[in-house]
Amino acid sequence: MIYLDNAATTRVCPEAAQAALAAMTEDFWNPSSRYAAGAGAAEALRSHRATVAAALGCLPEEVVFTSCGTEGDNWAIQAALEHGKRKGRHIVTTAIEHAAVLEPLRALAGQGYEVTYLRPDRQGHIDPAGLAAALRPDTVLVSMMLVNNELGTILPVKAAAEAIRAAGCPALLHTDAVQAFLKVPFTPKDLGVDLLTISGHKVRAPKGIGALYIRKGLKLKPLLLGGGQEGGLRPGTEPTAQIAALAAACRVWMDHREAYTERMRETKDHFLSSFSAALPQGVVVSPGDAPHICAVSLPGYPSEMLVRELSDRGICVSSGSACHRGKPSHVFAATGRPKGELLGVLRVSFSPESTPAECDTLVNALSEISSARVAAR
Ligand code: PLP
Repeated sequence: MIYLDNAATTRVCPEAAQAALAAMTEDFWNPSSRYAAGAGAAEALRSHRATVAAALGCLPEEVVFTSCGTEGDNWAIQAALEHGKRKGRHIVTTAIEHAAVLEPLRALAGQGYEVTYLRPDRQGHIDPAGLAAALRPDTVLVSMMLVNNELGTILPVKAAAEAIRAAGCPALLHTDAVQAFLKVPFTPKDLGVDLLTISGHKVRAPKGIGALYIRKGLKLKPLLLGGGQEGGLRPGTEPTAQIAALAAACRVWMDHREAYTERMRETKDHFLSSFSAALPQGVVVSPGDAPHICAVSLPGYPSEMLVRELSDRGICVSSGSACHRGKPSHVFAATGRPKGELLGVLRVSFSPESTPAECDTLVNALSEISSARVAAR
């Protein structure tokens, strides 16, 4: 099986799986228990939080564990609006956010909030000047992802922070950094964000764990009410196995960060040049600024058909996160590229494990599929 859909999820690394197993079968104690074993679990939790904070480049007390990226995004949005409720009801976001941001915002628009969507150019980039122009004295939230999950483009989050400061508007700035975490260099402080979401399963930790960065000093409404864990902000007995695994995955990634980045970028570049050489009718929709995501298209070949035919050959790639029933995903559609091009889009995404040989197999398969189609006409 050739797996080139690492923006969807990644294989858990052995170190993370081992850390989870040990936390489930040996050190399975409740960190809130008062006996020594419980104190040991609490100490392990402190150490794992410090590891994730080091990977993010923030303070341990700025990291709150969540169950996934979707939870982090939803909570950040709700909490930011609660924070700004006396100042306004205007939100700025982009048209290419993940559903974990767009869907809560759609629900809020039905509750009297006004949402301004910034549109990307044909390459999937957002113009910071558009954001500055969209800010108003009643803007209470700007939510802009750092790396787009279908195009691999990097969005101008730092410029957004500067624009908010320059406009003197009361907005909190949230970024969905689910696809950026460990893959492009940033720290929340450098970006100037108040809230930042990450998810474990994109960086070789298991599904079911993520974190929300909350800038020190920012007082947020808790997500849940309960036993006081996570500083009372996100109570519930801590998922110690998933947290241990996330910390282990972060440690491994940090230890190999430069090599991983270089390997993914080289693999992606190899794929893009073989694709262009073998398929002159193909289009590179987005080469991706981030090292691990790109999007290509075979105009006239619907993505769903390509994904199915590739799957029959043991190759996994994606048609984008929400491409179905003959409609391009909202992300590709927002770029305004020709419809024929958009309907044939494939997202190819890499992990440090991906190889140029796998890319060659994918390109050969695409060439065969396209020749068979031409012959059948
Ligand atoms: N945000 C982005 C950019 C994503 O790519 C994803 C997952 O694909 C999410 C949020 C949701 O993360 P999770 O699957 O952990 O809920």
